[in-house]
Amino acid sequence: MKFEILHTSPKSGARVGRIHTPHGIIDTPNFVAVGTNGTIKALDNALVEEIGIQLMFCNTYHLIVQPGTHIVKQGGGLHKFIKRNLPIITDSGGFQVFSLAYGSVADELKSKGTKKHEGSVLKISEEGVLFRSYRDGAKIFLTPETSIQAQKDLGADIIIPFDELPPYHVSHESLSVSLDRTHRWEERSLNEHLKSPNNQAIFAVIHGGINADFREKSCKFLRDLPFDGFSIGGSVGKNKEEMVEVLKASVPHLPKEKPIHLLGIGDLSSIEASIPLGIDTFDSSYPTKAARHGVALTEKGYLNITKAENQTNFAPLEDGCSCYTCRNYSKAYLHHLFKAKEMTAFGLSTIHNLHYMVKLMEKYRQKIALGLI
Ligand SMILES: [Zn+2]
Repeated sequence: MKFEILHTSPKSGARVGRIHTPHGIIDTPNFVAVGTNGTIKALDNALVEEIGIQLMFCNTYHLIVQPGTHIVKQGGGLHKFIKRNLPIITDSGGFQVFSLAYGSVADELKSKGTKKHEGSVLKISEEGVLFRSYRDGAKIFLTPETSIQAQKDLGADIIIPFDELPPYHVSHESLSVSLDRTHRWEERSLNEHLKSPNNQAIFAVIHGGINADFREKSCKFLRDLPFDGFSIGGSVGKNKEEMVEVLKASVPHLPKEKPIHLLGIGDLSSIEASIPLGIDTFDSSYPTKAARHGVALTEKGYLNITKAENQTNFAPLEDGCSCYTCRNYSKAYLHHLFKAKEMTAFGLSTIHNLHYMVKLMEKYRQKIALGLI
């Protein structure tokens, strides 16, 4: 992997670049579509490439549970198995394992941190995490080494070290203990990766919750190790303001010549706030999830396709949009498909939203190059 910076903004931390991978170029800043099980929900992988999604995010945890990474390996690796010719990134599985144990930040806020999650995590130790598969109840032991081995089976262009994801409501002391363990796990992951790099790049995960000192400590520890890039992970707060503070406490401590990914954040206002702070890539299921809920992203804001006013609106989702859906179908037809609960509705709305994200990121790159950001 090679990261080439084409333009650096004189007025913010924004930059335009290119990540060169064995499966092609990722222009940055860019949006990374989430295809958890090796597919963007409701879309064929060939179509996703046609829309121009340059990087796709697949979840190791889900692929371990189903079909099993050994089967993907047998099928020639993830690119061949799912027939994607462009770059793929996989995560370590840590995020899903710990989300099952603790729930999301939103769940936690609702319960003010008091709710006990049933979860499927059986035991967390220095060695790794023992959890129960949600599919068949089988016990699975995920460690830094087994996570990297699974990601070797998958063969994505970019992989992520195994980390612990402490909950948002965590004591200072517990967060400190967790941070040190995560650093040991990331170092073990890196060592396992370096035994057989296989042309894969590995991005460290910066942790530390919403504590600025811990974030700085995490950056300083991980930047001294030979990682190819960085990602901002862990809890980045309960709102955009906290997220911005986390980024401000992290990015300045990372080397400028390496790419920085923001894990699991990709709503429109967070992208807008993060690009000037130096974030290069964002992954989020938000645009595809919104599409399946009948929400189209447009220049004028969110368009609720299922609203009654669209029943007789024969214009496309967005005038002038060059996506396949807008070139061929009207709001009225999509409204009808959603009301009739036809699966085609999900595919067509997802095409539009992903196309919107591709164009949006192109515009951001142009704006940075023109000195507007
Ligand atoms: Zn469109």
